Amino acid sequence: MKNITILGATGSIGLNTLSVIDLHPDKYCIFALSANTNWQKMLELCHTYKPHYAVMVDAYAAEQLQNALSSETIVLSGESTLVELAAHEQTDYLMAAIVGAAGLASTLAAARAGKRIMLANKESLVLAGNLLIDAVKRSGAELIPVDSEHSAVFQCLQGSTKGLSKVQLTASGGPFLGVPLTKLANVTPDEACAHPNWSMGRKISVDSATMMNKGLEVIEAHFLFDLSHENIDIVVHPQSIIHSFTYFDDGSVLSQLGLPDMRTAISFALSYPERHSSGVGTLDLTQQKSLEFYPPNLEVFSCLRLAYEAIKAGKSAAGTLNAANEIAVDAFLKNKIGFLGISNAIEKTLEAVPVVSLDTLDDVMENDLLSRQVARSIIETTCA
Ligand code: NAD
Ligand code: MG
Repeated sequence: MKNITILGATGSIGLNTLSVIDLHPDKYCIFALSANTNWQKMLELCHTYKPHYAVMVDAYAAEQLQNALSSETIVLSGESTLVELAAHEQTDYLMAAIVGAAGLASTLAAARAGKRIMLANKESLVLAGNLLIDAVKRSGAELIPVDSEHSAVFQCLQGSTKGLSKVQLTASGGPFLGVPLTKLANVTPDEACAHPNWSMGRKISVDSATMMNKGLEVIEAHFLFDLSHENIDIVVHPQSIIHSFTYFDDGSVLSQLGLPDMRTAISFALSYPERHSSGVGTLDLTQQKSLEFYPPNLEVFSCLRLAYEAIKAGKSAAGTLNAANEIAVDAFLKNKIGFLGISNAIEKTLEAVPVVSLDTLDDVMENDLLSRQVARSIIETTCA
């Protein structure tokens, strides 16, 4: 029996993880769950799963949960409790499913404590890839990607990067594939969040619409598979059936296929190196009219270009890109800037914030804070 801690339990990945765990009550036990503010959903989860701990990062939400809860779950609050639970001796596996930079400290704590980390929170690697990979190597932690493309590559590699020459990440292209740049100026947050294939939280849905999601994934792949950015490219594949291509020196190309459903990658991260049922249906390729592949349009999706520029600049640039993106996406979701304002704000932030070395978590968080301040002021100036 493995004790599971799910950080970001009320989100899309968190709930999908619980639905896979529901299928295997003999294998997994929920030790701790966390969420930011949604205490009503957490209340339901506490009644169903009876975790030892439930964290609401927001203090008011924690109070509401505590008042409403009749089970014996211990309610905690505050960001530091996430770090404590991630590294807790009774946590066997951590599902890192918080959205954004808020997930970094707990992911790093689990890496230092030698846990199995099922990594959905790609932002951790974007912000602090070197620190995280180094901590994993030192402690013997297991870092298993949950992002579907990276899970696909991980599955094809079978534990070794020997002979790996290149990775090609597939991208659905999001809801605005083929839409000309001139039409993108006026799209709404709801249109941007209406993804054709995947059902996801709002931040990653906007990232998919701008294709920044794929940019972040290039950086994620760089750290996970120790590849230079020159050996990571992107192909648009609107059907989201092939979840990436893994190229080897001998000319072989391996890929993993499946229906676009995150439960496959989640299930694999739980069961690795074995496999077990995930609840996902069987792919029937005879039902697919076609499988298409195109190069991405870097002129329309300038976030992709910015992500490659950040990875080339190295050091703190990826963290700056991530911070500016989080601020800009939030502003777009709140109707403060238009869709094209997102890449604009990120580009200006990258120009304004110096590229520096990041050797500690404090350095990373300092650069994150500075980049957020710069991005906010750029957005305010644009809106004024
Ligand atoms: P979501 O918005 O649905 O859920 C986010 C979760 O994080 C919620 O439980 C929320 O309470 C919690 N949270 C939000 N802000 C927080 C904060 N400041 N501190 C602590 N907790 C906070 O997001 P999601 O779609 O489940 O995505 C989660 C992560 O997984 C993201 O990093 C995303 O890029 C990655 N991911 C998601 C998918 C997907 O299909 N949804 C696929 C690949 C990768
Ligand atoms: Mg992905």
